[in-house]
Amino acid sequence: MSTPPTRKPLRVLISGAGIGGPVLAYWLSKAGHSVTVIERSSRLRKEGQTVDITGDGLKVIKWMDLLETIRARTTKEEGAKFVDSRNRVVASFPFAGRLSLTNEFEIVRGELAEVFYEASKGKAEYVFRERISKIEEMGDCAEVTFASEDGKKRQYDVVVVAEGLASRTRGLVLGEDVRAPIKPLHMWVASFSFAQGENDDQWARVYHIPNRRALFIRPDGLGRVRANACVIDDSDKILAISGIRDREKQKEHFINLFNGTGWETDRIMDGLRQADDLYLQETAQAKNKTWSKGRVVLVGDTAYCPSPLSGMGCTSAIIGAYVLAAKLVQHQDNPQAGFAAYEAMMRPYVDDIQSIPRVFPHLALPETEWGISILHVVVYLFSLAAKAGLITAIGKITAYFNIGQDQFPDLPDPSVFEREGKQE
Ligand SMILES: Cc1cc2nc3c(=O)[nH]c(=O)nc-3n(C[C@H](O)[C@H](O)[C@H](O)COP(=O)(O)OP(=O)(O)OC[C@H]3O[C@@H](n4cnc5c(N)ncnc54)[C@H](O)[C@@H]3O)c2cc1C
Repeated sequence: MSTPPTRKPLRVLISGAGIGGPVLAYWLSKAGHSVTVIERSSRLRKEGQTVDITGDGLKVIKWMDLLETIRARTTKEEGAKFVDSRNRVVASFPFAGRLSLTNEFEIVRGELAEVFYEASKGKAEYVFRERISKIEEMGDCAEVTFASEDGKKRQYDVVVVAEGLASRTRGLVLGEDVRAPIKPLHMWVASFSFAQGENDDQWARVYHIPNRRALFIRPDGLGRVRANACVIDDSDKILAISGIRDREKQKEHFINLFNGTGWETDRIMDGLRQADDLYLQETAQAKNKTWSKGRVVLVGDTAYCPSPLSGMGCTSAIIGAYVLAAKLVQHQDNPQAGFAAYEAMMRPYVDDIQSIPRVFPHLALPETEWGISILHVVVYLFSLAAKAGLITAIGKITAYFNIGQDQFPDLPDPSVFEREGKQE
């Protein structure tokens, strides 16, 4: 068998140490490339709710030899219950494998980010409290000016933007407003955590409130409750509140919305008052006409955020990072050809996971008491169907709404990183 010729490693800059950034850093540095990851925050961001990883995302994790590490850090949620204002169970969905509401790989987002960071940090360089202020195309490379290094410039063969939904660098590169590719679904979610109390166990509970509000609390496997306060709001006010990043104002807004609305809402709002990990998230999608320009390429939520409603944000970021790494390794001498191959492979999958009916948030959060009663009847019938072994009924609903549809047609084999990865 002939040995492939040695080549000069690519100099790669990744902006954003969330989920996609560290997975990409892992694979590219495994293939011998020189990778630097910058993160705007002063530390790894640990905020956020529980997320799940499914289908081919798990395959990638297995190839990273992280499956058991992640399994050990899952939340061990036993199932999900819909409850009324007196905490009576309207419908319950115990964990029962692939088609239940609880996933086998349910993990707090920050825990997952940490696993990927730990797996890649020995191989790639991480720089916190840093961001890109300018990128100039130089023909065979991109020249990056950093914000914190007093105008210091560095050249890279490839710059990857993995900054999440509201990426500033994406706007800079594509010459458009930060919000230009963001398609809002008008649902806002305040996520925070507090210590478990006597009512909290290993079950998730969902409580609906008129005027399109809901509270969703879940165990996190770390002795805390992860709460999501959800509301449908298409006003400019909520956009402004999310934009100012003033945590106290954000808390006040949600406390006013939820206090005194029955069930355990006051206790949960007390938790929000004390919380130091509030993360206010817009439920929206990113739809970009192109995912690359010159030497710059987008990955994860920056390129194709499917929205938390799809349940595919982390899985698609993991798969996208893996496919981009494989295509760059295969097209090392022509990164733009690698970008094109990555986009060609990912587009159909992304189109599929992004095709959520726009009415879905409104169906999930009814306007009136009547609407909530109807929703309760529907989920009750589904819970009966599930218990009677007609579990495919749930599969049909999730398929209809395109939730958790995760089959990727043809993931590149990991041997590509061994075969093509011989560097100088
Ligand atoms: C703090 C946080 C909490 C989240 N909580 C949830 C949740 O509860 N449920 C859910 O479904 N999804 C959540 N998400 C989104 C979820 O992580 C993504 O949908 C998915 O994992 C895709 O990951 P990503 O790597 O593309 O982006 P992200 O995970 O969003 O990571 C982007 C990273 O880039 C950094 N960054 C942003 N701008 C810059 C910049 N200009 N320069 C350098 N770095 C920058 C961010 O600080 C972040 O670390 C959360 C994201 C974050 C950042």
